[in-house]
Amino acid sequence: MEPAALAGIPTPELAPLPADTVIAIDGPAGSGKSTTAKHLAARFGLLYIDTGAMYRALTLAALRGGVDVGDEQALARLLASSRLELVSGGKEARVTWEGQDVSAAIRTTEVEAAVSLVSSHPAVRQEMVRRQQDMGRRGGVVMEGRDIGSVVFPLATAKIFLSAGLEARVQRRLRQYRQRGQELSADQVRADLAKRDKLDSERVTSPLNISPDAVVIDSSAMDIQRQNEACARACRLNPTLDRLLDRDLATSRRTLPWHYRLAYGVMQTLGRYYGLRQVGNEGKALPRGCIVAVNHISLWDPPLVGGTFMRHRVNTLAKAELFKPGPMKAFFNWLDSIPIRRRGFDQEAFRAASASLAAGNNLLIFPEGTRRPVGRPGPVRNGLGILVQDSGAPMQPIFIRGSYGRMPMGSTLSPLEVSYGPVVWWHGLPALREQLDPKQISRRIAQLCEAIFLDLQAASFARHPQTEFEKRLGAGQAARLEARSRKVFGRS
Ligand code: C5P
Repeated sequence: MEPAALAGIPTPELAPLPADTVIAIDGPAGSGKSTTAKHLAARFGLLYIDTGAMYRALTLAALRGGVDVGDEQALARLLASSRLELVSGGKEARVTWEGQDVSAAIRTTEVEAAVSLVSSHPAVRQEMVRRQQDMGRRGGVVMEGRDIGSVVFPLATAKIFLSAGLEARVQRRLRQYRQRGQELSADQVRADLAKRDKLDSERVTSPLNISPDAVVIDSSAMDIQRQNEACARACRLNPTLDRLLDRDLATSRRTLPWHYRLAYGVMQTLGRYYGLRQVGNEGKALPRGCIVAVNHISLWDPPLVGGTFMRHRVNTLAKAELFKPGPMKAFFNWLDSIPIRRRGFDQEAFRAASASLAAGNNLLIFPEGTRRPVGRPGPVRNGLGILVQDSGAPMQPIFIRGSYGRMPMGSTLSPLEVSYGPVVWWHGLPALREQLDPKQISRRIAQLCEAIFLDLQAASFARHPQTEFEKRLGAGQAARLEARSRKVFGRS
């Protein structure tokens, strides 16, 4: 059956995908990723990147060179000192190690028996992920693996999690082996796949998992053609949803209450005064009922970010300490802020936040729960995941840079930038609910948000390299914030 997320999405042919497209396909061994990824690459004119082949090539080199596959540092050294290349042309995808074609040699049972251990080492993954990001950074790729949507490209244009039941995968693998002239027993293949699934899913560093925003496609009962069609439509999903965003800025501004227009006007003026640059939100309004998740470095963040989205009513989750009786409390109430106690779980605040999202308001939150040192976005707390699961509301991630340490007359020592990532829609939530408990799902959502912040930060640093001033600020702030964090949350 076709996933519900694809209902209403037009057929894939209608328009080309954006030039910077990154299609991420993750899933267990034998789920049909390679077949479909190659098909999508040919169909949409993208470069096909098989990340599994990279881990396999390293495994093969280790086995041939007598390197212990349990020795993380030896493997990392071997990888660092070798030339590993993926050559993609037409339907052919070849892998070379030190210039030698190993495309066939990496598909043996010996390699398969060892590859999950090799790929579980953090040092190996770190280098592989770096290379994969280098290959895909400019877009125009379809990349398959286990952690592409969650770790390698958390801002991918489309994420597909291709799954299939163990029996279906066993039969596919048997067919593949037969085509290569190898005869294996079904029992052996079943045991190998089950073992590899277990290792890949349970490893500590970026295990195989469903990214909460991935479209999950179970291909057990699909033939190749239907599987390809479903995946091709999934590639369109986010670009299509993006086109549905509210672009009528003038009308949405006119429908705002006067005090919002006043507040937005003031906030915009502040941004202009400080030379704020906006990236990624040209001509787009946020969808209604959307969680706006921003990293937090300074008390100036809310007005500086707020001045960039002037479209709908916005509730802000603000720490309860700010609501002391007096003019501050009146001000926060005036702007529909919701007080939240930061220690423990503030049920009342979460209820109010969900109700506000359901009413179509946007909700500005700082999901790290407190300010973090400049240049070092911190761990995202579970509150974001609780809100997402409660409301199903899409999330607009935003990265702010340069709001801390700005001098009254506008310091130019660091760029002041508010960058918008793409809106995240939680297509994968129903599938995750079948596998995980709410707390684990919140963790996944938090990890995705953390990865997105880091990605937006990397893109910002690519535009304007991190300044010495920022590094110094970050170091000074780190110590102060750690002490404060311990006081507020009881831990850092
Ligand atoms: O997809 P394929 O079966 O070729 O992947 C081989 C192995 O490489 C997987 O079982 C997994 O252990 C590892 N892998 C990974 N991360 C990726 C791709 C593959 O850990 N992105």
